[in-house]
Amino acid sequence: MKRTKALVVFSGGQDSTTCLYWAKRHFNEVWALTFDYGQRHVREIEIARDIAGEAGAHFELMRLPILGALGHNSLTDTDMIMDAEKPADTFPNTFVPGRNMFFLSIAAVYARENGIFDLVTGVSQTDFSGYPDCRDAFIRSLNVTINLAMDEQFVIHTPLMWLDKTETWAMADELGVFDLVRNKTLTCYNGIVGDGCGHCPSCTLRRRGLERYLAMRSKAQEE
Ligand code: ZN
Repeated sequence: MKRTKALVVFSGGQDSTTCLYWAKRHFNEVWALTFDYGQRHVREIEIARDIAGEAGAHFELMRLPILGALGHNSLTDTDMIMDAEKPADTFPNTFVPGRNMFFLSIAAVYARENGIFDLVTGVSQTDFSGYPDCRDAFIRSLNVTINLAMDEQFVIHTPLMWLDKTETWAMADELGVFDLVRNKTLTCYNGIVGDGCGHCPSCTLRRRGLERYLAMRSKAQEE
């Protein structure tokens, strides 16, 4: 069986948008699955829909309100103040316990229904910010579990797993979507598109990578 379709777990942020275009390069047909789990910025979902549409991907929105109700975290609870950094002894409160486990498990069931066995996620353990479900060991383990659960041969692709943010910008550029990723995606925890608020943990990480990549690129052009 030739595998021609892929489903991307898609948030409309820098990482999953880069993955969406990575998938477009490697598969004939790309689907984007976005979860509404009660995240602070509903705009995220509209942005995801727009980016998927522009990429020619089939967009699907799935509501998962239970995720916010199950655990206490600052992405769904607007009364909580977001941790700017990872506390020494625990996870930052932006950690949504089980998020990638639920997302990928649901994505696999949905994909199977649609004859898709390649899943793509933008997780990375390089800029490890304390999220255990972004690690390679977790993804491999879940891949085995999903296959056993449904007696199928899914492959979970993680094109960004070993890339830092600088290298993720380089990949977007190589895929021809540097400007699109820079200007249209939403990564900022304060809900500001593109370069964002500039000071939340997510913006800080994104900006550092961007500055490094732009410096590298202009140096390469000089040579
Ligand atoms: Zn921000």
